[in-house]
Amino acid sequence: MISIRGQNVAPSATLAITAKAKAMKAEGIDVIGFGAGEPDFDTPEHIKEAAMAAIQEGFTKYTPTAGIPELRDAVAEKFAQDNGVRYTHSQILISCGAKHSIYNLMQVLCDPGDEVIIPAPYWVSYPEMAKLAGGQPVVINTTAEDNFCVTPEALERAITPRTKAFILSSPSNPTGTLYSLDQLKPLAEILVAHQVYIIADEIYDKLVYDGIRYESITRLGEAVQEWTILVNGVSKTYAMTGWRIGYAAGPEEIIKAATNLQSHSTSGATSISQKAALAALTGPQECVEEMRQQFELRRDYIAGRFDDLAIASYVKPQGAFYIFPDVSACYHQKGRNITNSFDLATYLLEKAEVAVVPGAPFGEDRAIRLSFATSLEQIEEGLNRIQEALE
Ligand code: PMP
Ligand code: GLU
Repeated sequence: MISIRGQNVAPSATLAITAKAKAMKAEGIDVIGFGAGEPDFDTPEHIKEAAMAAIQEGFTKYTPTAGIPELRDAVAEKFAQDNGVRYTHSQILISCGAKHSIYNLMQVLCDPGDEVIIPAPYWVSYPEMAKLAGGQPVVINTTAEDNFCVTPEALERAITPRTKAFILSSPSNPTGTLYSLDQLKPLAEILVAHQVYIIADEIYDKLVYDGIRYESITRLGEAVQEWTILVNGVSKTYAMTGWRIGYAAGPEEIIKAATNLQSHSTSGATSISQKAALAALTGPQECVEEMRQQFELRRDYIAGRFDDLAIASYVKPQGAFYIFPDVSACYHQKGRNITNSFDLATYLLEKAEVAVVPGAPFGEDRAIRLSFATSLEQIEEGLNRIQEALE
């Protein structure tokens, strides 16, 4: 008999749609995939070469659980530059993807019944990871009018004596919106005053548009830094989703507990991938800007197309590579059996051979998520098909 935990865990909707679209493609069906939250670019050559050199040199054994010292140095340097915080080795943990970093953090922060505040729309894995750790997700709904950002009033109302952590996803998956430092300041003051840990998921920090420079919550000063655990990784910035390297940095006792936990689960991240991640962080950074520019072009195009679609309203994403339009105007229409985001996603897949992710697993059933981490040609064709199927 499967445990209650095993019975209750929901599959990842994002990975499920991505797998379905890939399987359809393998069968020869001309499906356009807006599902995958992964850059379509190849991993830059110098990063691959570092991995090949690692293999050639026999760098194929267990590494320290928390990660090789050179990579922790590189991560420390990144956080010093980008976040204005100087972490020591004992405050940094390398894991098998940022997803694994957040999973570890949930496991070592939550006692049964501890509350984790998660603003909606949220990335599908946050509530599941909190629940798997015995925690209780507490969802704060945000609105398009507020740019999908939490207001100080809503945050204050959600905090209880059981609140352990707050998850900050900026730039956000799935909405692509981000918080300014001015918006973060009152939120951070409330969280610090109530001694709530801030898990700052900054995996899209380098994918920001409109000339905006991303500013981390850690820029608000030492008191905030003491309550913040930064999460980042190489998956999105360097087109390295399959290499599975993410990292976290924060208070030493939390990182130590997470390292102990990791020593019994994965033993650490792959030695070869760690060398590749080291090359990514310390090597030339032009590739990051080139990919960012491509994403911005695609964002402009997709937003322009949605401007022309009468049946959808959206907030223009300023970061990440997702758009999260409200498509509820398409529900309950005569002749089509569409009453929710799952129905709509199924309809688009079957009728238009376009894969999108339903909004419900992100906590917003009126929306669907489209990833624009795919070529302009594919985006154009996919949107033509969506327009034809829905209008
Ligand atoms: N956080 C967010 C918001 C994401 O969209 C993703 C995408 N996979 C991750 C974390 C984890 O990425 P990875 O495990 O590939 O580092
Ligand atoms: N984060 C990406 C997404 O949201 C990749 C899939 C996943 O890890 O959930 O699509």
